[in-house]
Amino acid sequence: MAVQWYPGHMNKARRIIKDTMSQVDLVIEVMDARIPFSSENPMVAELRQHRPCIKILNKSDLADPEITKLWMAHLEKEQGVKAQALSVLDKSRTKNLPNLCRKLLPERGSAVKSIRVMIMGIPNVGKSTLINTLAGKTLAKVGDEPAVTKMVSSAQQRILLEGNIVLSDTPGILWPKIENGNSSYRLAITGAIKNTAFDFEDIALFAADYLIEAYSERIVERYKLKQCPKTGIELLEEIGRRRGLLRAGGIIDMQRTSEILIHEIRNGTLGALSFETPEMIAEETAISDATL
Ligand code: GDP
Repeated sequence: MAVQWYPGHMNKARRIIKDTMSQVDLVIEVMDARIPFSSENPMVAELRQHRPCIKILNKSDLADPEITKLWMAHLEKEQGVKAQALSVLDKSRTKNLPNLCRKLLPERGSAVKSIRVMIMGIPNVGKSTLINTLAGKTLAKVGDEPAVTKMVSSAQQRILLEGNIVLSDTPGILWPKIENGNSSYRLAITGAIKNTAFDFEDIALFAADYLIEAYSERIVERYKLKQCPKTGIELLEEIGRRRGLLRAGGIIDMQRTSEILIHEIRNGTLGALSFETPEMIAEETAISDATL
């Protein structure tokens, strides 16, 4: 079940995290490495205040490694932020997180003073998976639970990690950037939000247009095309035709074709893909500021 965010939910989540913050020394914000801007919550800066923050570019196995490097450098421009790319496929790097926490707070993390850590982020970025890896056992439930209710109802448990790091077993759930047009498309493409104002064909079309621009060689190779189509709609038609996804009268079944494209993006069949770069976001932000 997907979480629907309304202003009431957002205020509640914000209030809960703000109240818990007095018990927190360091914040770990988990983001999706394929869409670091769209999966980041700008409220984290306000909520964490002076506390150091590790921004995790998670699911990095699915993201373009060169673009992930650009994002790491970009995110570290913010005061007190250290960026780290992680993946559930590389648990050794995740296990090194307590060391990173100690580096950021060298005066704590001793036998006397613990470092209290809170993990937060929007739904589906891999917070529960990360907590389970750090704890070395299954504590947080992985999947699409109605996260707000979970956060409100469950009593927080503490997990003690090496070096006197104390981690809350319940992540802080933040809301995604659903109000931003391009971000909501990207969140939908990567599967971070399920219920959007768009239908599946719209999402696939947005993805197809972007793939042509950013990953044309990948597209040509995967769908065995002679050349890359010029528009997203042509690409979808070509995929549908090649896969024989036809309805009565030989019309291409765009719904099924769209599902295939999105599925192949999400499960990594098209290789490691990133859907935004710092440069793209700077341009998009400049355009939207100019139109305000
Ligand atoms: P949460 O809502 O932020 O707690 O996210 P979950 O931990 O429930 O993970 C959401 C989905 O992403 C699950 O299907 C996980 O198996 C998957 N997932 C988590 N981490 C990774 C990762 O590093 N790589 C990939 N490919 N999938 C991941």
